Amino acid sequence: MQQPDPHGRTTRTADHPGDGLASIATTLCRSRRQVPWVKQPQDENDLRAILLEASRSGAPINVISTGRNWGYGSHLPSQDGTALIDLRAWNEIGPLDPATLSVRIQPGVTQGELHRWLQKHAPGLAFNTTGAGTQTSILGCALERGIGYAGPLDEDIFGLEVMLADGQVHRPDPEWFHAARDHAAGPSHDALFFQSNYGIVLAARLRLRVRQEKEQAVVLNGSLPGLLRSLEECYRSGILTLPTHISEPGRTGRLAANRLSQLRGRAVTVEELRAVFPERNEHVALTALHGRAPMVDAAWRELRRTLGRGVAAWRLGETTARRIESLARKIRLRNHADRLAAFLPLLGLTWGTPTDAGLHALALRTDQNDADLAQEGAIYGNAVSALTVAAATETAAIIRAAWAEAACTYIVLNAHCLVTVFTLHFSPEQTSAAKVAEETIYSALRARGYPPYRLGINIAGPAGEGLHELVKNALDPHLLLAPGRYEKQ
Ligand SMILES: Cc1cc2nc3c(=O)[nH]c(=O)nc-3n(C[C@H](O)[C@H](O)[C@H](O)COP(=O)(O)OP(=O)(O)OC[C@H]3O[C@@H](n4cnc5c(N)ncnc54)[C@H](O)[C@@H]3O)c2cc1C
Repeated sequence: MQQPDPHGRTTRTADHPGDGLASIATTLCRSRRQVPWVKQPQDENDLRAILLEASRSGAPINVISTGRNWGYGSHLPSQDGTALIDLRAWNEIGPLDPATLSVRIQPGVTQGELHRWLQKHAPGLAFNTTGAGTQTSILGCALERGIGYAGPLDEDIFGLEVMLADGQVHRPDPEWFHAARDHAAGPSHDALFFQSNYGIVLAARLRLRVRQEKEQAVVLNGSLPGLLRSLEECYRSGILTLPTHISEPGRTGRLAANRLSQLRGRAVTVEELRAVFPERNEHVALTALHGRAPMVDAAWRELRRTLGRGVAAWRLGETTARRIESLARKIRLRNHADRLAAFLPLLGLTWGTPTDAGLHALALRTDQNDADLAQEGAIYGNAVSALTVAAATETAAIIRAAWAEAACTYIVLNAHCLVTVFTLHFSPEQTSAAKVAEETIYSALRARGYPPYRLGINIAGPAGEGLHELVKNALDPHLLLAPGRYEKQ
């Protein structure tokens, strides 16, 4: 059984030895919940039995795929007294259907596992990777409508296999469903199970993409207004089709310092940092061009022509990047080599290689890649807007007015949508103040017309009159699954 410790945190007892939730007591956002128990079902029968027992005893449940919803609450439920079902051991991959570029995955399949599996079984195929690291679940992230370097993950997931709270299982009907299409004829029910907690997703199909002859990461440097104006034109004219992640100088600086310390195995001085990363106070944007070599080269030329004054750009493919890094090391240009080594894994996200390097934006010890173990707390949040300089500037101002130690990443999804992801960094003494700031920021952003695309466990959802109650009552009449999540709390 899980019991609260004297500090109000939950600790694990021997009810489920080896359940793998080593960090049950700590989350990156430093939230705490009383969790009565954690269970790891072996199979569907086991899961059904747990659900029926929970339903009899009236114990609500939160389901996690790998529980690394870092910055948004990690593995924790919204409400105290909600138990956990942990599906991280459900990590079957396959069958792969090369003809429809799709593969079946279970909830526990991580980015790292699928990447290794594809390298072995289908090296010509790749999937949409996020910056959340090698140990995070693809399905868990998609169910939160997470965003990868090739776009929103929920758009890649289909053919959901679902268990409802009463234990009934629903799978696509093979007579009516073809993996070539995301939907069968008739109403599409898949969308019901994203950010809803209407059921437990047992598996789904993931759409893959064919690796292209030339896949280049494109890095842009400039002021935020300069970058956004240039990017708007690039998306409107079809030069760019994949998302662009823009990091503000604070976030890039934090990441650069931590990555350099990792590489050198020790703390680095300000002078060393300046020598390796000379550009300062500039926003850095990362996007990609994929296709046949002449197409990529033509798009690159158009991109360069379209960029406004003051925006610099360069491009790099995987092989060239590695070659330059090793050459720089050989001829003892150590700063150049370290600069490349620090950011190369992040560029790799655009060609579909997951990495833990992005976690080094947090205060992690060099040998760690579990964000819950970061020495400082961090709350993640987000806001949706149109792709305009005014929206980005106002959003950032609202965030910073409530929390000075905030860092923003602006994700340009396409010609019409900008998602601002913010991180509130805080020390242990600032925990309560950071939670208050989180609420203040969300209310202020919503009031100005910038709603979130995804919520952390401490943030209430929409008032939820009407349709949500109707569907929830029909699919989960005892309100067993994740009460309070994406709901009025
Ligand atoms: C440094 C850093 C970088 C990050 N980068 C990104 C990024 O690039 N993109 C991004 O989207 N996020 C990012 N994140 C946020 C987060 O860590 C990821 O989204 C992560 O993948 C979510 O955790 P998970 O995959 O373990 O999902 P889980 O924690 O397992 O699941 C999340 C929630 O989904 C629901 N759920 C999960 N599984 C099921 C199921 N089988 N059935 C029904 N409901 C279920 C539950 O409500 C659960 O609480 C980042 C975080 C950090 C700290």
